[in-house]
Amino acid sequence: MSAIAALLAAVRALHERTPELASYAPWPSDLSPFEVRPHLVEAAQNLGVQSLRGTRGTARVIKALRRAAPELEWRQTYTAEEVGERFLRTYGYVELFGPTGHFRSKQLRGYLGFWGPDLTYDWHAHEAEELYFTLAGQAVFAARGASNVSLKPGQARSHAANQPHMMITLDQPYLCYVLWRGAGLEGLPRMVAS
Ligand code: ZN
Repeated sequence: MSAIAALLAAVRALHERTPELASYAPWPSDLSPFEVRPHLVEAAQNLGVQSLRGTRGTARVIKALRRAAPELEWRQTYTAEEVGERFLRTYGYVELFGPTGHFRSKQLRGYLGFWGPDLTYDWHAHEAEELYFTLAGQAVFAARGASNVSLKPGQARSHAANQPHMMITLDQPYLCYVLWRGAGLEGLPRMVAS
């Protein structure tokens, strides 16, 4: 099995046995592998040496992601003008499955996102509904109309369509599995005023 197929299998196992994930959206039934060229960002190159403490439940995904990291297409949605140089040096995400991912799906979009310690991911919004599920590290989430919450590995937070939200990572790197569902599945997040 390729490293990317092993990563998909690990994510699927986590998704299907975690009630919060499985009830948010069923595992997509339309996945087809797509040839995506690897693209590395600095954060992905350093993933192997990061201390990523998860739970027993998320450890398999973390291990599979470390293995697959050099073969994945890592992205950064933002520019240095929007988020700053330090943010871009320590952040990156992968669309594992979805409209433009390593595995194509029109039903659901699944990302793996990584942020370094002490980063502020400022207010942003997108049309798709979203669920953040923490794999390793800890981050504080704020969302308009909701109280702040601090997420540890195994804990989740959802955002409604177009609901502005922001995130601050604490003293460790933060790794999460993010689901997008509903209208706007093919869209991108955009920075918004708080
Ligand atoms: Zn979001």
